[in-house]
Amino acid sequence: MPRASLAAQLEAKYMFDYTSTVEEINKSGIKTAIIPLGSVEQHSSHLPIGTDCIIAEAVARSVGERMNAFVLPVIPIGTCYEHKCAGKFTAVWLRPVTLYHIIEDIVLSLKNQGFEQIALLLGHGGLFVVGPVVRELNANNDNLTVVHRELFSDAGKSGLTECADDVHAGEIETSVMLYLKEQYVKKDDMLKNDFLPDVPRSFLNYSSILKLSNTGVWGKPSLAGKDKGEKLLLYEVEQTVEFITRAFKAATKNAW
Ligand SMILES: [Zn+2]
Repeated sequence: MPRASLAAQLEAKYMFDYTSTVEEINKSGIKTAIIPLGSVEQHSSHLPIGTDCIIAEAVARSVGERMNAFVLPVIPIGTCYEHKCAGKFTAVWLRPVTLYHIIEDIVLSLKNQGFEQIALLLGHGGLFVVGPVVRELNANNDNLTVVHRELFSDAGKSGLTECADDVHAGEIETSVMLYLKEQYVKKDDMLKNDFLPDVPRSFLNYSSILKLSNTGVWGKPSLAGKDKGEKLLLYEVEQTVEFITRAFKAATKNAW
């Protein structure tokens, strides 16, 4: 597929977001909202700390345009204890219980004003409290469906990546950032920050990534490329639209 056509497919032409007026949103009759969730955390020396926010917001905007949804601004702080490292700044985190209540309050304020379908798009892999709050909201609220998706979690199946164990600041995130915000990617560092810890990802429940990886990376950013980033982003947008559409349909048909 030619480059211009991919880029055109990713560009959000029009959607409802915080630049809309309340009149526009009320008149639209829109009942679907999309909430991107990011994180402010170390992404080694080649990517900015706001990488998860930038990527989550970009996916959310493209998905929102395709689904005619109201896209909220990204929730920028997550629960990234796994980036803690004594003695230096590495991340900003909320306690899981705080994020639980932030999500609960935002979703219920939307429901209170007529929204019926909410999709939470997770730009950071460690937002483990989202599952429990989604279950709780669905179980206890009629006429409300909340779904969630960890972005790029199945990008390995896209056939676009080479590194099979890409967890953090690796091939995928670096490629997408090269496409979205190339000016923020430190290319010399990108080529020397590869690191693959010899433990499973679940060990991030027990330790900091900065103890498991010398560079703070889990993956191979040296394999990143701008074209790859564009294709990965389009793949993720399409996967997310399909997932959300299926999940909303299934939940509506099989209400609690
Ligand atoms: Zn990230």
